Amino acid sequence: MKNFLEKGILFIKQNPTILYSFILVIAIPIAIFLNTFYIVGHFQKNLDSITQAKAILIENIIGSIISNSLEDTPKIIGLVDGIMQENDEIKRLEILAPDENNQEQFKIVVSSDKEKIGDNEKNTQNILAWNNEEGIAHLNELNGERIWNITKIIRNELGEKKALVSLSFSLKFSDQLIDSTILKSYAILIATVIIVLLLVSNNIKLFGYALTVSKLKEIDEMKDNFISMASHELRSPLTAIKGYLELFNDDKEKKISQESQRYLENISSSIERLNLLVSDILEISRMEGNRIPINLSVVKPQPIIEKSVEEIKSQADQKGLLIEFSKENLPDIKADPERVKQIFVNLLSNAIKYTEKGKIEITAKKESKKLFITFADSGIGISAQEQVHLFQKFYRIKNEKTVKISGTGLGLWITRELARKMKGDISVESIEGVGSHFTVSFPLA
Ligand code: ADP
Repeated sequence: MKNFLEKGILFIKQNPTILYSFILVIAIPIAIFLNTFYIVGHFQKNLDSITQAKAILIENIIGSIISNSLEDTPKIIGLVDGIMQENDEIKRLEILAPDENNQEQFKIVVSSDKEKIGDNEKNTQNILAWNNEEGIAHLNELNGERIWNITKIIRNELGEKKALVSLSFSLKFSDQLIDSTILKSYAILIATVIIVLLLVSNNIKLFGYALTVSKLKEIDEMKDNFISMASHELRSPLTAIKGYLELFNDDKEKKISQESQRYLENISSSIERLNLLVSDILEISRMEGNRIPINLSVVKPQPIIEKSVEEIKSQADQKGLLIEFSKENLPDIKADPERVKQIFVNLLSNAIKYTEKGKIEITAKKESKKLFITFADSGIGISAQEQVHLFQKFYRIKNEKTVKISGTGLGLWITRELARKMKGDISVESIEGVGSHFTVSFPLA
C-alpha cells in the first residue's frame, strides 16, 4: 500500500498536469452543485416571502372592504366565495368575531368551509393575532403541502378591533416551480459533469501525446548523439586510410601492376565519397541539434564568390566548363562568411557535377532588402515533379543521367538550412535537358 502511494506521488510529481485534470473533474461539478443550491435556496426564500406578501395583501383588502359592514353577513359570504373562486392557492378563508364574554374565544362568522360557520374557536393563533398589530403568519406542512396560515385584525373606521380574518395560503404552485427548477439544474449539472469528463479524457489523451512527444524527443536526441559520435569515430580511421594512401602514392619507387594501381584509385575515390558522407551526416546532426554556430556579420559577397570559384575551378576545368561572373561591386549582406562560402561551394560543385558541357554563370540582383545570387548551369536540368522533393534529406534523382554521379542527397538540404538560419532562402528553376538556376538570397546589411 505504502509502495503504491509512493509510486502515485512520484508519478504526480513527474506529471503535474494530471493534477490539473483531477482538480477539473472534482472542482467544477462541486462549484456548479454549490452554486445551484445557493441559487435555488434564495429563489425559494424569495418565493415564500412573495406568497406571504400576497396573502397579507388579500387579507388587507378583505379587511378594508368589510370593516364597516361586519354585520352584513351575506355581503361577506359573497366576498369570501368570490375570493375563493378566483384564487386556487387559498385553501381556507374565515372571518372570526371575538366572544364578548370570553376574550380568548372566537366565533367563525363566515368561512369558506360552510360547515364551520357558527363554530367557536379557541386557538393560540387567533389570540396571538388579536394581540399583535401586524397579525401573525406561520408556515405549516400538511400532507407534504406547505401552507402559510395568516391571521390579521379587522378594525372599523374608528380604529377599534372588530374581527379577525384568517386564511390558509398554499405554496403548492411555487414549490412545484422550485422542484422543476431543481430538476433542470440537476440536468444541467449532469450535462456539465459529462462535458467536463469528456474534456478531461481529451486532456488525458493530449497528456499521453505529450508524454510520447517528450519520449520521441529524448530518442531523437539519443539518435543525434549517436550519429554525432559515430561520425566522429568514423572520421579518424578514414583520415588514417587517406594518409596511408597518399604516402603510398608519393612513393616513387613502388612497384605495382596497372591493375593494382586502378584498385588503389578506386579505394581512394571510395574513401573520398565516404568522407563526404560522414561530413554531411555530421553537419546534419549538428544542425538538428542546433549546434551549428552562425556568426552573423556584415559581409562583402564578391570576394566570397571569387574564393568559392577558385576552390572549385579545377573540377570545372577537368570537364571543360566555364564559370562566368561579373566583377561588379555587390551590396553588403548580413551573414556568416564561412557558411556563405559553404553554400556557394555546394551550389557550384552541384552545377559542375550535373553539367556535361557549356558554362556556369553567377549573377546577382538586389530586391526588397535582399540580395539574390543565382547559379545558372547548362546541365541536365530537373523535372517539375523532382523539383518538389529536391530539398528533402537524402533525396537524389535517379535516372540514366545521374546513375554514374555520386552524391549523398544531403547537400541541398544542408544548403537550405544554412540559408534559412541566416534569414535567407534558396529556390530552384529548371528545365530538364536545358539547365538549372539555383537562387540563394541573403538579407542586406
Ligand atoms: P547530391 O549529393 O546527390 O548532389 P544534393 O542534395 O546536392 O545531393 O542534390 C540532390 C539532387 O538534386 C541531386 O542528386 C541531383 O539529382 C539534383 N541536383 C542538384 N543540383 C543539380 C543541378 N545543378 N542540376 C541538376 N540536378 C541537380
